[in-house]
Formats: sequence, structure tokens, C-alpha cells
Amino acid sequence: MSLKIDLETNFAEFVIDAGEVILGTQQRTDMNPPLLRVKPNENILQAVCALLNSGGGVIKAKIKDEDYNHEIHEVGLDLPPVFEGYLDEMQQGKLFLIFVTSWNTDVSGVPLATLCSNLYHRYRSSNNVMDSHKALIFLKEKTDSSLLSPQEAQAGAHREDDTEDSAAALFDREQLQYLEKLNLTESMHVEFQMFPTALSQCVKERLARCVSALANAEGGYVFLGVHDETHQVIGCEKEKINLSKFKNSVECCIRKLPVYHFCTQRHTTQCSIRFLQVHDKGDLRGYVCAVKVERFCCVVFAKVPNSWQLKANKVKPLTTKQWVDWMMQAKPVRRRLSEMFLEPSLSPSMPPSRTVCTQNLERLKVLQKHYFPVSSHRVAYAPESLYQELCSEHKGLRDLIDREMRPVSRGILIFSRSWAVDLGLKENQGVICEALLISQNNTPILYTVFRKWDERFKDDSMKVASSLKQRLVDTGGYTGRVCIVPLFFQLNPVGTPVTPHSSVAQIYPESYNLTTIQHMETLLRSLVRVLFGFRSFVSEKLGSETWNLLTDQQYELLSKNLHETRQLFVHGLPGSGKTTMALKVMQKIRNVFHCEPHEILYICEKQPLKKFVSNKKICKAVTRKYFMKHDFAEIQHIIVDEAQNFCTKDGDWYKKAKTITQRRKDCPGVLWIFLDHSQTNQLSCSGLPVLSDQLPREELTGTVLHEEEIAP
Ligand code: ZN
Repeated sequence: MSLKIDLETNFAEFVIDAGEVILGTQQRTDMNPPLLRVKPNENILQAVCALLNSGGGVIKAKIKDEDYNHEIHEVGLDLPPVFEGYLDEMQQGKLFLIFVTSWNTDVSGVPLATLCSNLYHRYRSSNNVMDSHKALIFLKEKTDSSLLSPQEAQAGAHREDDTEDSAAALFDREQLQYLEKLNLTESMHVEFQMFPTALSQCVKERLARCVSALANAEGGYVFLGVHDETHQVIGCEKEKINLSKFKNSVECCIRKLPVYHFCTQRHTTQCSIRFLQVHDKGDLRGYVCAVKVERFCCVVFAKVPNSWQLKANKVKPLTTKQWVDWMMQAKPVRRRLSEMFLEPSLSPSMPPSRTVCTQNLERLKVLQKHYFPVSSHRVAYAPESLYQELCSEHKGLRDLIDREMRPVSRGILIFSRSWAVDLGLKENQGVICEALLISQNNTPILYTVFRKWDERFKDDSMKVASSLKQRLVDTGGYTGRVCIVPLFFQLNPVGTPVTPHSSVAQIYPESYNLTTIQHMETLLRSLVRVLFGFRSFVSEKLGSETWNLLTDQQYELLSKNLHETRQLFVHGLPGSGKTTMALKVMQKIRNVFHCEPHEILYICEKQPLKKFVSNKKICKAVTRKYFMKHDFAEIQHIIVDEAQNFCTKDGDWYKKAKTITQRRKDCPGVLWIFLDHSQTNQLSCSGLPVLSDQLPREELTGTVLHEEEIAP
């Protein structure tokens, strides 16, 4: 059965339907056949693991046992101990819900949740599976040693016992005697196993574990057909075995073991197999199979690591490569975006400078207190000006908000004309406003106020809420329990407001409530990261992700109501982030006006910049020269960048741009012009209107941290 995300749900986040489950330790033992006790709820384990690695969510399962009661009975899921502290459980009649929060690397010490590493190490004479911590240490040691030459690595390996020489001698012997007691014990380098007549699944698995353990350590020998306690030679009777077939299947089993290389040599797992004759009173009785396992250059697994993630709405296993990469954080995983703000040295290839990170952290606090202050004695409305604007535009809104906020004692209600657009989603034209309530002793709530309710809107609003939750975790780096509960309202223009669908709101465990002001502020700082964070251009150059925070001016520029600010001149000095803003505005245009990349035009003077923007695939990008020579029938919106470099040599570009954007009388397009006024050549004709006519106008004065300052 493949686990899928349940799309028909009222939780605004990932919900995995795990089907039917048998809960309770006793109940599972009583089952007939009692296999279920040995085999835990594999489905649920995988779902929990996938959610931990994908930002959290909910698992729903139907309880099979009629009499199961969560108040009395244990859950008995046999989860790995490291998963403790991430789960909350709730029974709703016959439905069992497991709430899973996102994996916390700082607390757990490892970057991802794993059910079993399937990576073995040799401890004395036993093969032990490494837990995630041990596996991480082992992987790190291997990366260091992979830089050494094989000879150096061999020399560095310490040999503690002399069994290896005796084992080598045994491996080379031609003949053994039946029931001969070997002068050799199991050790770091030697393993005895009874000889199976056929390589059953169980024997193969045992061999795989043994080979993984030996190859990851210093190599060694496995003797099949020697009693592991008495050390007596037993062997396999010659009539019962086909030597070449058996050899093939052992080789095949070893060849198939998943490996991962840090080195460039990329050897395969090296083994040699010999059959030693076992004689009884002078006659050939059978064989002992001896396997010599060489020390492996890098990492050998007994099986693919058992770890899961959500992908394309399904619970999917990680491949060995994905697992190691994620463990080593060699690839930019989503979770790292947020850590960039906190931890200065994560990427081995490009450590972001400490100053950037601490500046960001300090600025986060400042921005949060400035834009989203939490009041200790009331509910603050932010931004206050937007709230007043909305109330004057929509009769009845103030009453609705007042009524809803009456029972709330402290917190903050954050208004937006569209949280969807703020999060990079398409605007719903039926929405008057959306407001996010962060309040004490409650979960965050996202209120959506509609002009007129339509059943189809529910999906949109759920999407906004779930996207916000996901972004708070991924981009915002919030590691606590978090959910967003969506509530919908229709604003009735004449009478009292109605609440069409508040009943759909789902109930979360109490641990999801925000308890203190500090708790609320932590969440709000994650929200600042979501709203102010952007990917720096340095990423394009170095292939690594660096996040930065918008300045206040940039944030306010991007918060402008595009319906009302169709035309704008934006003046900014070099380094004030004009091109970044131009890109972000175009993204916003797409979501607000629901248009396609071929309907938005970006014009600049120089080829390299044109190419850079063109690669973003969010608009059509051209140079001014090209713009003057062609028609643009499909274009509705135009963004002009670096206009100080423009000229009228090929014609009046400003007039042409204006004409294009204003040709739709019912809904004129956006025309924003970005320029560095200080660099405008006053003598040559740039084609821009005179300064006093460049209205409305905004200035970007602050400089963002420049690429060069971030790069090492
Ligand atoms: Zn290697």
C-alpha cells in the first residue's frame, strides 16, 4: 500500500491516511496470527518518518479494535526512541490522529529522521547497526579518511588482535577435518556461521549485515560451516550443495549491497570466496565456505537506509545517496534556508560570513518588534493603517473583527489584502482581506473575509493556511509545534456578518497553543523571515543558498497595493536592490493579476542583465533596443530597470511603454520604472520625464548587503 496525502481534509497541512491500524500493545499480541507484534505498524512508522523530514503534519488512521480507548490503552507503536517528543496523539471516535511536528536538527543532533540506518559496525565479534548519531560520526570520519591514499588509510587502521593472521592461514588451508576444533575464536575480524544449504532471505540478510560491518571496519573473514560456540568444523554435506551456484549467490548478494563513495576511486565491495574441503576419516564429507571481506574505501550498507520523505503527495523512501547527502548536508536541503540565519558555518564549500548572520538575527528582532509587536494587555492590529483603510472600504468589517476579538486577551492580528500574494500564491479576487491572529493560549488562526462565499473558495483558503504553516517551518525555521487554523467569513453588506464555515476548523492538541509572549514572539520572528527573507543573487554565482532580509523600504515598496499603484518611479542608489525588487514585483504582478510570464515585460539596457532576468522565467526580458524594434501584442505589464542608462536614440521608449500598459481601458497594466537618478546623464536625453514629472515616486536609500560582502 502506498501512503498518500489525504487531500480531503480540514487540517491545513499534510495529512497522511494510514488506513486501518491495530493499536495497543496487548491488542497486537492477541492478534491471530500474532505476526503483527513482530512487525510493527510499518505504515505508521514510515508516515511519521516522512512527516518529520517534510515539515510535519497529521496522520489519520482508522482504529480496527472496537474496544480500543486511548485513555486506557497504550498506543504501542514501537517508535524509535529518537522520535519521542515530536508526536501528540488524539482519538476521535474510531479515528486515531497522530500530530507530527517537524524534525529539529539542533535538538536531535542529526539532520534527518531515520528509522534504521542499515549501516553496520563491528563491535568485538558482533555486528551492530549504527544509530543516526553513530552513523553521522562514522560518515564524517570517512570523509576525512577518503582524502588519504589507500595506503595511508590502511596504515592508519589499528589492529588490535592477532586473529587476523590465523584467520588468513585458515582461509588458505586446503583441507579441514570434520569436527576439528579450530584454534581460532570469533573476533573483530572473524565471524563463524553455520552453513546454510541455500541462501534463504534470512541468511542473506545476516551475511549482508556481517559484510557491511566488516567492510566498514578493517575487513575480515566469514566462515560458513563453523559452529559459532564450539568452533568445530561442521561444513555442508557435499551432496546438498552446488558449489558454483552457491558461490554465485554469495557474490551477487555482496555485489548488491548499497554503497556510497566520498572518494574518487569508487571501488566496488571486494570479497574473495573459497570452499575448504571437510574430510571425515579420509573421505571428502563436505565444505566450509570462507568469505574474505576487504576493508572498503568508503561506506557499505546492509540495505538502503530506512528513511522517508513526502514527495509528489506520496510517502517515498530516500535513496542511499539522498540519505547520505542529507546527513552530510552536502546538498542544500530546504531546512537549511532558515539555519543560514542562525548558524554561521553550515556549508563546507561556502561559509557565510558571521557578520551577515548576526546582523540578520538582530534585525529579525528589531523588525518583529517594529512590524508585529505583541501587546501584553490587548490585541494589536497591524498594520494599523491598513486596518483603518479596510474598515472604511468595507462596512461591517469593524464589527466582525471586534466581535471575533472580544474573547482574545492578548496578541496581534496581522492584516493583509491577500496573505496568498504575500506567500507567493495567486490572489483570490473574492477575498476582502486575510488576517492572521497570533494570540496567547490559542493556536494561530487565519481569518479570511470574503465578499461572497463560494464553496470553491475553501480549497484556496486551506492552501494559504497550509502554505503559511509550511513556510514558517521551512523558511522561518520554526521548530516548535505549529499549525494554522483557517476560519472563513462572509461579509454581509447589509446586515450582520455570517460565519459560513467556521465549523470546519479542526481541533489540535493543547500543546499546539502558544503559551507565552516569548513563545508568540519566536513564532513572529519566523514570520518576519518568511515575509522579509529573499534569496540573494550570490546564490546564482556560487550555487549555494544565501538568504537575506529586505530593508524596511523594500518591504513597504513590495507591500504596495498594485491595483492602486499602477505606475511608479523607483529611485535607488547602486546596491539598493533595485533588480531584486523588480523581480519580486513581477512575481507579485503574476499572482495579483493572474497573468502568465509572456504577459509581463522586463526592459533593461544591457545584455547580461537581460539574460540573468530571462533565466528566472517569470517574464519576457528584452533590451531597450529590441523593445523599440518589435511589437508586443500580448504584454500587459512592464517593468523598466536601470532606466538611467536609457536613451531615445531608437525612439521614445517611455511613450511606447505607456501606450502598451494603458491600452486596456478597463484594467490598465502596471508600469514601474527603476532607476538610479544620481547617474542620469542630464545632457543626453534618457527619454525619462523631467524629475518633477516622475510621479508617483519612491526612494530606496538603504543599501542591502552586497554580494561581495557575503562571499568569502
Ligand atoms: Zn570510495
